[in-house]
Amino acid sequence: VSARAELRDRVEAAVADRPMIEAVHLATLRKVEQRRAGMSVLRDVEALRALAAQVKQHTLEQLPHYLEEFVLRAEARGARVHLARDAAAARRLIVRIARDNGATLAVKAKSMATEEVHLNAALSAAGLPVVETDLGEFIVQLDRDRPSHIVTPIIHKDRRQVAAALARELGCAYTEDPAELTRIARAHLRDVFRRCDLGITGANFAIAETGTLVVCTNEGNARMTTTRPAVQVTLVGIEKLIPRLIDLPVFLKLLARSSTGQPMTIYTNLITGPRGPDDPDGPDELHIVLLDAGRSDLLGGALEEVLRCIRCGACLNACPAYRNLGGHAYRSVYPGPIGALVTPLLSPGRGRELARLSSLCGACEAACPVKIDIPKLLVELRARTLDTQGVSKRLGMMAWRWVMGSPRLYAAAQQVLRMLNSARIGPWLGARFGALRAWTECRDLPPVPRQSFRQWWRETGQPPSRG
Ligand code: SF4
Repeated sequence: VSARAELRDRVEAAVADRPMIEAVHLATLRKVEQRRAGMSVLRDVEALRALAAQVKQHTLEQLPHYLEEFVLRAEARGARVHLARDAAAARRLIVRIARDNGATLAVKAKSMATEEVHLNAALSAAGLPVVETDLGEFIVQLDRDRPSHIVTPIIHKDRRQVAAALARELGCAYTEDPAELTRIARAHLRDVFRRCDLGITGANFAIAETGTLVVCTNEGNARMTTTRPAVQVTLVGIEKLIPRLIDLPVFLKLLARSSTGQPMTIYTNLITGPRGPDDPDGPDELHIVLLDAGRSDLLGGALEEVLRCIRCGACLNACPAYRNLGGHAYRSVYPGPIGALVTPLLSPGRGRELARLSSLCGACEAACPVKIDIPKLLVELRARTLDTQGVSKRLGMMAWRWVMGSPRLYAAAQQVLRMLNSARIGPWLGARFGALRAWTECRDLPPVPRQSFRQWWRETGQPPSRG
């Protein structure tokens, strides 16, 4: 079964799941409205977005320099910095750190980078249990499900499903009261925090000037994860660097507003090095794993700007395709418009077909706080797919270019179309032949006018009247 046929099956299954689509639809529309309200209080949103894009772009253009500076500063503050060339290297490194420290129970704050490298599975296989501490991720873990949104992992679930998961897995009384459900999860996680000895996080930003990690959450679980266990590991993509501490407010102003409309996340943790002699809390050891995994291959190329992404999720909420499918149809750690880009770019050989899950309407670009031109990049990715897949499509596009490049051939093609149209042969052909059937099934061929503009011009020798 081809990847595109599989995608089609997943799309059909998603569209048929009405309760899930309704939950996703409601939640994303609410987030779009919250984002609009949150942004409306800023004095000059466009200038702020342009500045954020500029800072990120500048960092990417000077990435080796800022990486070197970050490593130097972080190590000067006592952190141990490691570079993981790919996902397998990141898994190996973190498993080794856990083993070297005799870890028996790990807690993890929500992190897309750890999802990307499938860290939980690697740690479990090495005999180390990992407990997700973000509430949404915790429910996903209890339910043996997969996250479907990069900020709101259980956007596809309603409160009945959450209640059922907690009652079944934790043995508590069934309740659908959100406050009570949160209290139950909190009590369970408190006990886990008491017993854990390894904390794992991602980072929203890494500041080169100071060697600081910035971790933004709304639940305080990252603060517990970075203060309670004796050893902390932070896995962070190399594109998360920003040059200076003074650049951070630009992103803090945009990140939460783009995600949920909040002025800022409730908890914004700045972590520079492990616990010092006078610090009341914090880890004794801080390991920072810088993840490349395909990122440096994008530098300087046509798709480089995808690395500006700050994973706010606004493009998912704005995207009509995501809203009507949910995240599981993408079958990727990163769903939605940004997922359609980063999945094939960071995991070669996977998800190339996802670039087609977009109408290219531009809503994603309009919502993006770092002004990534997602439709342009999707078109570029589609063109690359065309270069390497589907001989018939490539031949079709060559023929199209040939016809469109020659006035004679163009006129001849119009004649042929007119004949097909009047004889109603087009639908007959389309209904019978594979590739044409796939094309005509969901598209109408508009009727071709009896007379072309060229014929009319030749006959009358004058421009059409404007009246
Ligand atoms: S592409 Fe832009 S809107 Fe989408 S998650 Fe990244 S930063 Fe947010």
